[in-house]
Amino acid sequence: MAEETVFGKIVSGEIPVEKLVDTDRVIAFRDIAPQAPVHILVVPKTIAYANVTELAAGDPALLAEMVKVAQELAKEYADGDFRLVFNNGANAGQTVFHVHAHVLAGGL
Ligand code: 5GP
Repeated sequence: MAEETVFGKIVSGEIPVEKLVDTDRVIAFRDIAPQAPVHILVVPKTIAYANVTELAAGDPALLAEMVKVAQELAKEYADGDFRLVFNNGANAGQTVFHVHAHVLAGGL
């Protein structure tokens, strides 16, 4: 079980963000430090999974839903093409241990 992180606080509403997507299981919001013209984070509401490896093993349907949401965001905010990044582990640059996808798009 993952510890609550800043993303858990965003999911619960304790930290307010503008939600671009809000479904039963997933939210999306803009990264606070964008690395591309469009840089959106797709975050499951559950705090159960710290990284994409755990998510893929535990709930592959939720991972598939994240990819679908990424595609929809890229269509809405860019030309439909996108890079999908999951940092998996501190040595790969992961800083928030609540699984999330970076959707990077728009003139990469
Ligand atoms: P990681 O390095 O774990 O893959 O990505 C974490 C991302 O979350 C970083 O790109 C960072 O800029 C973003 N981030 C961290 N804290 C906040 C926050 O409070 N609000 C938003 N919108 N993004 C955040």
